[in-house]
Amino acid sequence: MNHITLDSSLHWPPYEKVKKHLLVIQINLQRAKIATTMLLKAAQQHQPDLFLVQKPHVKDGKITGIPKCWKCWLSKSGKAGITALPTCSTPVVLSAKENTMAIKITKNSKAFTIISSHFSPYANFREILEELTDLTTNINGEEYLIGGDFNAHSQRWGYRDENSKGKQLQEFIAEKHIFLLNSSNSPPTFEHNNRQGWPDLTMVSSHSLAAICEQPFPSYLHRFNLRTHDNCSCGGKGDPMHYATKCRFTLSWHFQTPTVSLKLQWLKNILTNNLSRTRLRLLLRFICDENYLIVEDNN
Ligand SMILES: [Zn+2]
Repeated sequence: MNHITLDSSLHWPPYEKVKKHLLVIQINLQRAKIATTMLLKAAQQHQPDLFLVQKPHVKDGKITGIPKCWKCWLSKSGKAGITALPTCSTPVVLSAKENTMAIKITKNSKAFTIISSHFSPYANFREILEELTDLTTNINGEEYLIGGDFNAHSQRWGYRDENSKGKQLQEFIAEKHIFLLNSSNSPPTFEHNNRQGWPDLTMVSSHSLAAICEQPFPSYLHRFNLRTHDNCSCGGKGDPMHYATKCRFTLSWHFQTPTVSLKLQWLKNILTNNLSRTRLRLLLRFICDENYLIVEDNN
């Protein structure tokens, strides 16, 4: 599940505009009831405006298990969908193609195109990339976000190997100057028994959007060249781990530092424990509200 926050003003820093943000959650349902339950829980907890959904369980052209008052659109294959919660005002359908579903929304009088896609392992990869090309060339330089299950392998988003789909997708990303939000050390988006995978990717049309979609940490700003270095103003390296365990500004919400080998378990424990989740939420709110404190760029 990927959380994406869009700020329609595209200005940095985001703390000025944080209440006007649009929250999008991307989730691969794997046609499973339990995943739909997770979606409903996430809706309650994070109150997003939109879900980008892949592989939903569909009955009579509708995603099963979601509230009737949510709007919902599906690609022709039924494997890529978007649902809009009542908080999302004026979503307009752009197109429903075989493997992609696209809508347009307006936030603070700025238009965004939101695309959900599903690349079946058996479909012609080129054809689906052409669907995406059509969609993104016809919107005249407006900002867009693509969330999809691409079934493509590359080290760039976490796999240990690269296949021909992975190569084609990277060429597409480079050609269109798209910004991929997943990084090579992103945790797997899919886990079952002992298998892991990174099929689910999120990409956006511009680097300012990319920086805003990421959490407001100096390490990300540096990665997208919006900042000359990635230090926190306390002097430490300003990555998420720093704020969760070390930074003196966030002392009240610190978690115990995990050992390297237990890091994944440590993350899971935090996400499954109510108290830890609350602390994490307070920590993130503090970082958003007091952003000037930690990302001050002295250069
Ligand atoms: Zn610090």
